[in-house]
Amino acid sequence: MNPVRQIAFGYSTQCNIRCGHCVAADASPGTVKMDFDRAQDIIQEMARCHVTGISFTAGEPLLFFDDICKLIQRCRENGIYSRIVTNAYWAKTREHTDRVVSELRSNGLAQLRLSYSRWHQQHINRENIVHAALSCQKQGLDYFISFVTDFSKKDDSFEQFLRDHHLKFFPEPVIYFGRAGEFDRQRLFTDYRPNVCSMNPYLSPQLDMFACCDAANRFSKTRFLYLGNLRNDNIDTLFRKMETHVLYPLIRTMGLTNMASYLGFKAREIVQYRKCELCEKLFNTKENLNILTKSARSDLINWRR
Ligand code: SF4
Ligand code: SF4
Repeated sequence: MNPVRQIAFGYSTQCNIRCGHCVAADASPGTVKMDFDRAQDIIQEMARCHVTGISFTAGEPLLFFDDICKLIQRCRENGIYSRIVTNAYWAKTREHTDRVVSELRSNGLAQLRLSYSRWHQQHINRENIVHAALSCQKQGLDYFISFVTDFSKKDDSFEQFLRDHHLKFFPEPVIYFGRAGEFDRQRLFTDYRPNVCSMNPYLSPQLDMFACCDAANRFSKTRFLYLGNLRNDNIDTLFRKMETHVLYPLIRTMGLTNMASYLGFKAREIVQYRKCELCEKLFNTKENLNILTKSARSDLINWRR
């Protein structure tokens, strides 16, 4: 059976706003865009390699509206589920929003993901999110609102706004990478959770592929998440590299907490880290990475509660 293959597709890093928490902020200097014809070819190649879902992300994809419409058409023609992640800057009026959503839907878009947070909403009127969500509801396009939060009281009114409008949303924890790397962290109050991660791969406009879309250029000391570049390898090779890696499947199944425990991290230390911070502690250190790699198929896999 073929493994499930889905990917975040970074067509361009260009964004029209500058959110204070953006993880993409330190990914590359300036903005980069993929060549349009190359992007079309890549989607065809992904289809041949059994990719079943593509999420257009990176900067703000809808700055390249016509190109993205054509790319989601390519997805539809090839039976690939498509999603666009957008800050909804374009949803200024109900009428215009209806036109945009209608066009996305008629080109074959399967889902719109609306980014919302107290950082996004310093630049984008939150009514835009309501326009976009209501238009999706009206036109039968699946959507959800990704409510990025640090779980502080400052976000209560933002959450209440979504509740007042009866909108479907999911809280997403801030990832303390990129610009958010400098933020003060609230203390965590949770139990000893496994910190399992599904690991969604990411293709950058420069054609670099990473095993994780939230930390593309992180892990600079070990390049743990870097898979390669499409100029040197084909899509299938890079997916296979991900699927046959000794540690990635363990991140998805046994979780980071067990791996940290195996390395000797104290339980009281482990509970202080958020998931991605713990991931960085484990895999952006050559010493830890060597130990985990060597033991991946023996002692480590049996390190369970
Ligand atoms: S978080 Fe999204 S909308 Fe905000 S600056 Fe980054 S890419 Fe743009
Ligand atoms: S836990 Fe690791 S692999 Fe998962 S999103 Fe965070 S940095 Fe990426």
